Amino acid sequence: MAYQISDECISCGACEAECPVSAISEGDGKYVIDADTCISCGACAGVCPVSAPSEQ
Ligand code: SF4
Ligand code: SF4
Repeated sequence: MAYQISDECISCGACEAECPVSAISEGDGKYVIDADTCISCGACAGVCPVSAPSEQ
């Protein structure tokens, strides 16, 4: 399953640069993950300061 970013996201942008498949982009009020592109590597969760990304 793909990762999703919760409302805890503070839009710091750290995860976007870490994603190996460029699945993350800035959305409305938080960053968002394209579920069809995400390969569930977990890199975004590893760099997020507020643990917003999690596997759904
Ligand atoms: Fe990108 Fe990996 Fe996070 Fe999916 S789990 S959005 S592939 S960094
Ligand atoms: Fe949001 Fe976490 Fe990504 Fe920063 S690293 S943009 S807080 S999900």
